[in-house]
Amino acid sequence: MAAIRAIRFPALGRIELIEREEPPAPSGAEVLVESAFLGICGSDLHVLHGRHPFVRPPVITGHEWVGRVRSAGPDSGFRPGEPVVINPLVTCGTCRACRAGRLNHCEQAKVMGFRLPGTAQTRFLTDARQLHRIPATMDESLAALSEPVAVGVHAAKRAPDLETVLVIGGGTIGLCVLLALKAAGAASVVVVEPRAQKRMLAQRLGAADAIAPEAMGESARFTAVFDCVASQATLEAACRQCIGGGTIVVVGVAEAGRQIPLPRLQRFEIDLVGTGMYVPADIDEAIAALADGRIDAAPLISAVRPLDDAEAAFTEAMRPDSVKILIDMR
Ligand SMILES: [Zn+2]
Ligand SMILES: [Zn+2]
Repeated sequence: MAAIRAIRFPALGRIELIEREEPPAPSGAEVLVESAFLGICGSDLHVLHGRHPFVRPPVITGHEWVGRVRSAGPDSGFRPGEPVVINPLVTCGTCRACRAGRLNHCEQAKVMGFRLPGTAQTRFLTDARQLHRIPATMDESLAALSEPVAVGVHAAKRAPDLETVLVIGGGTIGLCVLLALKAAGAASVVVVEPRAQKRMLAQRLGAADAIAPEAMGESARFTAVFDCVASQATLEAACRQCIGGGTIVVVGVAEAGRQIPLPRLQRFEIDLVGTGMYVPADIDEAIAALADGRIDAAPLISAVRPLDDAEAAFTEAMRPDSVKILIDMR
């Protein structure tokens, strides 16, 4: 029987390429998809190294993904050959949050590559409702960025006043938040990032300024602050630099609790809000903006590596100057 290939984390710090049995033919609303590109995400690396708050190996990794329909169940609504990206968030569909369309609030939700087998497989079965069509003419490597861009699209909606914006952290998610903020009409977005190369990239992507943390003026204030790091230090900086009545959006994944500088938040009526993943409409917005060029995420792609070099690709993704490493799964 033919086998498929998959990238698995068997234990902390270890990456292996495995063979798995070919999935069965899709039935009902199932779709068998064939992978094109996989993005390596910081949260995948957190799982690999035991720094994820909820998930430990072993796991088949992967949640940033683009591919094509290979065969489709009769009730799926898909046809072979259609290019698609995936929503890795698998929800219960019946709880109050799901019924209200706030799928990212579903407490039964599981995410592919974390508590479910991930998309780092050459072929796999999924449910039609996890798939989003992309335009046939769309560059597939750019489409692989739909998921992190959707994180930015959703995050940008969490702050009502985007007059002056500070983004803390210039990694992939910080830069995706920057791109989504610009697409949402934010005129002035400043990025704080310790590494010079990422600051240059932020400016290339439209940041009004990109500055090192130590160069940040203590008195600068912003109507919205997006903390894409969520360390104790960045959370304190966010509280310091948010204007009275402004909003702090926590985008970064903290591996533990943090202390909140409550007196300033209380006295100046600063809203501290979280943002978690996205809803399906955010993915469609990300696809549309990537497809028509309103969001140009191409500069985020640091390298594309073949599946055979998966282990080296994950090592490369850990380098501080790497932004998005894609694995060519074809
Ligand atoms: Zn991700
Ligand atoms: Zn639910």
